[in-house]
Amino acid sequence: MRAVQYRTIGGAPEVVEIERPTPGPGQVLLEVTAAGICHSDDFVMNLPAEQYTYGLPLTLGHEGAGRVVELGPGAEGVEVGTNVVVYGPWGCGVCHLCAQGKENYCPRAAELGIYPPGLGAPGALAEFMVVDSPRHLVPIGDLDPVKTVPLTDAGLTPYHAIKRSLGKLRAGSAAVVIGTGGLGHLAIQILRALSPARVIALDVTDDKLALATAVGAHDVVLSDAGAAANVRRLLGGRGAQLVLDFVGAQPTIDTAMAVADVESDVTIVGITNTPAAAQVGFFRQAYEASVTVPYWGSRSELIELVDLAHQGVFDVHTETFAMADAPAAYERLAAGTLTGRAVVVP
Ligand code: NAD
Ligand code: ZN
Ligand code: ZN
Repeated sequence: MRAVQYRTIGGAPEVVEIERPTPGPGQVLLEVTAAGICHSDDFVMNLPAEQYTYGLPLTLGHEGAGRVVELGPGAEGVEVGTNVVVYGPWGCGVCHLCAQGKENYCPRAAELGIYPPGLGAPGALAEFMVVDSPRHLVPIGDLDPVKTVPLTDAGLTPYHAIKRSLGKLRAGSAAVVIGTGGLGHLAIQILRALSPARVIALDVTDDKLALATAVGAHDVVLSDAGAAANVRRLLGGRGAQLVLDFVGAQPTIDTAMAVADVESDVTIVGITNTPAAAQVGFFRQAYEASVTVPYWGSRSELIELVDLAHQGVFDVHTETFAMADAPAAYERLAAGTLTGRAVVVP
């Protein structure tokens, strides 16, 4: 079968021919119907050898959708032919955090050699993929796999980040979204669906800001050195109750801290290869502002998101690519010229 692999440190992803996998005990084989491309892949492929821990060659793709085609011995609870999306941050399944569905925070996964598909285990950028357990599959019924696969990360990560702050998003509140790409354009929609907050979106080009407006941002602001002042002007001098930074570079973290109101949440989702940090402490941050770095989301949250998708809540913007063009999609991602999520259809 064909797959997209990262094979050499610093190299570009390659389309290669590899053996079709067979599901082992308890596992499920999917015929992949769609696989999303995430900016985190770019982070991973820019790590120097001494920080790279994902194994080589690595079949990429941690956003996967597929059709169940084969069950390994003893695998139960899902039927051949079912259309599903894959919950990616696999955990041990038995610890206290996994018992709550928070496998993204399983403290035992690494020591047990359990890694997400595309981030250690073979990923979804292939014609077929093996999923470790039926519990990692969420049926999607007649939803379009291309429009649904981004929910597994580009949707799930902001959904989790927003849900934990919903109590602060009362009427009259504001939420700032920095970076309106794959994750950010879904964050805007999740905010609009779940809260009465005024949503202000920041990005670096008019095209990106146009997408933000199209998916429901109340206001848009260019992300430059004057951004924080411009956001505060829009808010009558006040700050926002939730700031989501989907870039995570020093300039955006500084903007995030500068627009945070008292008792707000500053949630840094973006990951960069250059060190960046929030300045915290007296005179550096708003009183009782909490700074946090969430990772992905829980199994139950993905089920909730798929329910929202069935209600027609999301307008997921995608650009689709054939597998042969996946390397070009990664180039577009790195260049910042994609609109919404890049999705590969094998
Ligand atoms: P993306 O490339 O689709 O979107 C990033 C957006 O940020 C683009 O629209 C880009 O124009 C914009 N941007 C770049 N520089 C900016 C600046 N200075 N100010 C404002 N906007 C700017 O990326 P994505 O796939 O949506 O991922 C976003 C980030 O989230 C990445 O860093 C990724 O690694 C990270 N991520 C984290 C988690 C997690 O669990 N914490 C999960 C998924 C992705
Ligand atoms: Zn990701
Ligand atoms: Zn666990």
